[in-house]
Amino acid sequence: MLIHGLEGMELEKIILKWALKNAVDHGGKALQNAVIAKVLREEPSLKQKIKEIIPLLEDVVSKVNSMSLDEQIRLLEEVSPDLLEQEKKVEEKKLPPLPNAVRGRVVTRLPPEPSGHMHIGHAMSGLLNYIYAKMYDGKVWLRFEDTDPRKVKLEYYENFRKGYRWLGIEWDYEKNNSEDIELFYDYAEKLILLGKAYVCFCPVEKIRALRRDGLECDHRRHDVDGNLRYWRMMLDGRFKEGKAILRLVGDMSSQNTTLRDPAIFRIVEHPHPIFGSRYRVWPLYDFSTSIEDNLCSITHVLRTSEFAFRDELQNYIRELLGMSNPIYIEYSRFEFKGTPVSKRKLRAIIEAGLAAGWDDPRFPTIEGLKKRGIKPEAIREFTILHTGFSYAKREYDWSLLYAVNRRLLDPQARRFFFVPDPVKLTIEGLEPGVLSIPYHPTNKNLGVRKVEYTCNFYISRLDAESMKPRDLVRLKYLANFEVVEVSREEVRGLWKSGGPIQGMPIIQWVPGESYHKVKVLIPDILYLDDGEINPESLKIVEGYGELNIEDIEFDEVVQFERFGFCRREPLDGYLFIKAHD
Ligand SMILES: [Zn+2]
Repeated sequence: MLIHGLEGMELEKIILKWALKNAVDHGGKALQNAVIAKVLREEPSLKQKIKEIIPLLEDVVSKVNSMSLDEQIRLLEEVSPDLLEQEKKVEEKKLPPLPNAVRGRVVTRLPPEPSGHMHIGHAMSGLLNYIYAKMYDGKVWLRFEDTDPRKVKLEYYENFRKGYRWLGIEWDYEKNNSEDIELFYDYAEKLILLGKAYVCFCPVEKIRALRRDGLECDHRRHDVDGNLRYWRMMLDGRFKEGKAILRLVGDMSSQNTTLRDPAIFRIVEHPHPIFGSRYRVWPLYDFSTSIEDNLCSITHVLRTSEFAFRDELQNYIRELLGMSNPIYIEYSRFEFKGTPVSKRKLRAIIEAGLAAGWDDPRFPTIEGLKKRGIKPEAIREFTILHTGFSYAKREYDWSLLYAVNRRLLDPQARRFFFVPDPVKLTIEGLEPGVLSIPYHPTNKNLGVRKVEYTCNFYISRLDAESMKPRDLVRLKYLANFEVVEVSREEVRGLWKSGGPIQGMPIIQWVPGESYHKVKVLIPDILYLDDGEINPESLKIVEGYGELNIEDIEFDEVVQFERFGFCRREPLDGYLFIKAHD
């Protein structure tokens, strides 16, 4: 058929191209009029013959619309990859302005306790503080809250530094709270002299009960001299751990129970990872933080709302010492579905032999996320997109983070063929050859790879099982075949000439003679909705990958087409970890 000098096949190709493009741009449904407009713009001479081409156009559009979006994209990749637009850049969402922020004067802090592995919650909190400081040309402190010798371990300081660096956070100053311990002692003495702190000898249970009931103990009535003497005895090692604590004179009737004479110093008979046994009296969190926020001239404290009730206490401590207060901004805590960040829970999983270590790709630790193939930029973008400045607790679905990660990876990850659970395919009539396949349909910078083939292939069992005799199927970028016979062991087909046609399944393949054995770990959430451990939290899929996977660098994240984004483990052989679809 000839329509105005255009071969029918040629015309159909033009229509198909624009129908696919329109469908892909509109979530899978092409609009006939839009397609007509595009076709006419490409071939204005068709205007007079419009009536003749309508039936063909209707036919193509309806076939395209019966395909899934995924199928449409795959077909467009072959028919006209240039039309596959890179995903539009999402307008960068900005965080709301910081109250009372003066350009060049904002100082924030990253205050990790080096007592465990850095996790996604630390990451997002660190990013918020960092992004805000940079937004106002301010400064950032990395300040280790390391005044609990029993919890703090040397290895974790570096774990946090590495984690922050990986996220692209550059801090301006760094210190350990423990460095200032003698200064903390001076402030303690000041409070005692002011009559605002006293040494209490009550057992822990009694203190707890009295605080609950809002009642004072007798030690509160000791005079300044007595308290000073007892305090020095604490420092001199005259009391055993648990026998004496220094308490703040707060408000025993306050609704905010943290203000009911909290402990501010206690005896810890355990070596500190940096200072060893040089000190035995250590400040508690609220005391050291209050002082340090002032020493570091912190202007804004961004932290999760679970700490909100502590603001009042920390402000009170500073006011007693004549110090000014920072501005607090609370946001809802970051929690992820099915994934505890609690050290205790994660350790239990490791001890039960269900995970190899803290870098398990199912873990919310930075090492785990990295191992899974999550990009630091994705965590940054996710933080900006999803931070909620409210008191409500929020539980995020991991798919939200994966969506951001996918959007960042998609334009730059090389694509390879991988067939899980392979089944043999033989295509009669297909001549052997060598094929050049782009590593990416639109990102030409990624180059091409060569694939040598004969008439023997492997395809995935899922694809094989969806075939029946007489079906027309396309091996992506290579050839069409008609299915002759399908069995559990193999598929036999007959080569058919021609290019990709709408509605035809397009499948991945590897050559039957040359491939690599590949193993992919698929991590899932650790806990199910009912709180039970997910028995399928780590699946293993085996299959064959094309020979070119040799070139995949260790730690590189690639896309196995129609399977998902996977990161190569730095090991012998071909072990990958799937990040997400
Ligand atoms: Zn007491």
